[in-house]
Amino acid sequence: MTYQAPVDDILQALKTAAGLDDLLGQGVLGGMDEDTIRAVLEEAGKFGSEVLDPLSTPGDRAGSKLVDGKVVTPPGWKEAYQQFAAGGWGALSAPEEWGGQNLPQIVATAAGEIWNSANLAFGLCPLLTHGAIDAIEAQGSDELKARYLPRMVSGEWTGTMNLTEAHAGSDLGQLRTRAVKQVDGSYRIFGTKIFITYGDHEMTDNIIHLVLGRLPDAPPGTRGISLFLVPKVLVSKDGSLGARNDVVCASLEHKLGIHASPTCVMKFGEGGDGAVGYLVGQENRGLNVMFIMMNAARLAVGTQGVSVAERATQRAIAFAKERRQGRSATAKGEDMAPIIEHADIRRSLLTMKSLTQAARAICLVTAKETDVARRAKTPAERAAAANRVALLTPVAKAFSTDIGCEVASIGVQVHGGMGFIEETGAAQIYRDARILPIYEGTNGIQAIDLVMRKLPLEGGKVVEAYIGELSATAEQVRRSNRPEFGRMGERLGDAVAALAEATRWMGGALGKNPDAALAGAAPYLRLFGLAAGGIYLAKGALAAARDGGGNGAQPIVLARFFAENLATAGPGLKETVIAGADAALAPPEALSA
Ligand SMILES: Cc1cc2nc3c(=O)[nH]c(=O)nc-3n(C[C@H](O)[C@H](O)[C@H](O)COP(=O)(O)OP(=O)(O)OC[C@H]3O[C@@H](n4cnc5c(N)ncnc54)[C@H](O)[C@@H]3O)c2cc1C
Repeated sequence: MTYQAPVDDILQALKTAAGLDDLLGQGVLGGMDEDTIRAVLEEAGKFGSEVLDPLSTPGDRAGSKLVDGKVVTPPGWKEAYQQFAAGGWGALSAPEEWGGQNLPQIVATAAGEIWNSANLAFGLCPLLTHGAIDAIEAQGSDELKARYLPRMVSGEWTGTMNLTEAHAGSDLGQLRTRAVKQVDGSYRIFGTKIFITYGDHEMTDNIIHLVLGRLPDAPPGTRGISLFLVPKVLVSKDGSLGARNDVVCASLEHKLGIHASPTCVMKFGEGGDGAVGYLVGQENRGLNVMFIMMNAARLAVGTQGVSVAERATQRAIAFAKERRQGRSATAKGEDMAPIIEHADIRRSLLTMKSLTQAARAICLVTAKETDVARRAKTPAERAAAANRVALLTPVAKAFSTDIGCEVASIGVQVHGGMGFIEETGAAQIYRDARILPIYEGTNGIQAIDLVMRKLPLEGGKVVEAYIGELSATAEQVRRSNRPEFGRMGERLGDAVAALAEATRWMGGALGKNPDAALAGAAPYLRLFGLAAGGIYLAKGALAAARDGGGNGAQPIVLARFFAENLATAGPGLKETVIAGADAALAPPEALSA
């Protein structure tokens, strides 16, 4: 089946969870209104269905290959990339100054969901390019900006993110790539990076690598890391391409999924004199710059979780309507029923659809706060929104990518044996999804970030205010007394109360017993995602009810299902957080392999 962009579901989340009308009123969306946003997303959807989706399965089968030291992407990839760039899709939210369209982050995030749903392995390339643009824009010198940004924004060149080394993954403080300053102010880079996405390819004439390295006299750990821009092909002052830089792709990884996306071992300076690089930002402050790139990329990867969940859900629903087996408990005739009539399949599909819409809402709310943080009129509004972005980013990344895997797995199950066979496409989605909780900071690291760095923001006031808002919506649902809402208000109230209690406990544990707090970090993040996601779906249900939607209106169906079947895990997760640490901290010797 062909992927169809879920434009209505996206707009519904934008309007109800992200408060699109308020945003329009505040003037933070530039000249955009609901109709223009819909038009952009429909066009993105057309590109996704017509150009990217048809390449997804063949791309998975062909994979990217290393031929004579150069990466060759699957057939059709280069042409699709050129169409993508020519359509201006890579530059949606990039600044106008560099040729971008300066569209709001909510639009870029929604469009990103669509492309990554249509073809995850393709979508990664512009995702990383965008992160590189953000970092150069934020901290690059005027000269670097002028020389590189216009051609990255136009899509003429792509960008990469070179952090990981064999002994430095989650712990970047260990990285050993060396940088040596030259008299002309440039640097020479020596080292090997692993797992570099789109580290080489033939889709563009140049690739702009952002590389973390260490100067000879740098302090140890993360305080001694600098960031360098290292082009694949050197660029002269007049913008013309010169000699090849000493950067090569030494090999490609063989992976579980995203086969079309080349994952490269990159060697810098193997030839002897070092790869030419230029400092971005200040010496030894590279990780701060990289965090600019990583925060945007974390939201984008969270959105990839939504993308795979959406793709899996569309396929599962279509299959469940076609496939006939058995009879449903209430069926009258003798014919086999489409499996969508069976209670367990209905539960499965509702789980898929509601988790997807909940994660979508969390990502779009994070994107909306990014827009407010950038464009609101007063510094106070901008600062408050920036804190919200900081709080929600780890939840958007980890909750959405975890549910991406779960939804993809349920999608395989709904297909029965055919789910395990490659031709339905369900298996590829499952394989592709599995990287998402790992890269861009593992989900374990996201949970640590949430608990250790984000809960303490402003002395805990940022999270307190957020939970207060969730609580007010739960109460609004409960008070609405609508029979079609069932126990939605109570169940959401329980989940939010559980989040509040777990948050208070975390506040205490962080000071007294940080190991106990860390043991509960992942279940705490899950609880956070369930409570927030449930409330955002409930906002959709409230709006649908206001518009006269009854029992069968999709937003009400999804919100009620989520509250009564999934958010019910909230109080249990709270118990895990506050009472499970002792058992979880059993000594490593207790585990035998
Ligand atoms: C397909 C693919 C594409 C990638 N693309 C890129 C890219 O473009 N650029 C790039 O730089 N990197 C990239 N990566 C690397 C990726 O970001 C890392 O794999 C990831 O950050 C984890 O690092 P690691 O593999 O070394 O795992 P480790 O850091 O060894 O982690 C192993 C496990 O231990 C846990 N862990 C580690 N430290 C802690 C801690 N302090 N507390 C609790 N748990 C901990 C982790 O959560 C994980 O579960 C890619 C990886 C893959 C597989």
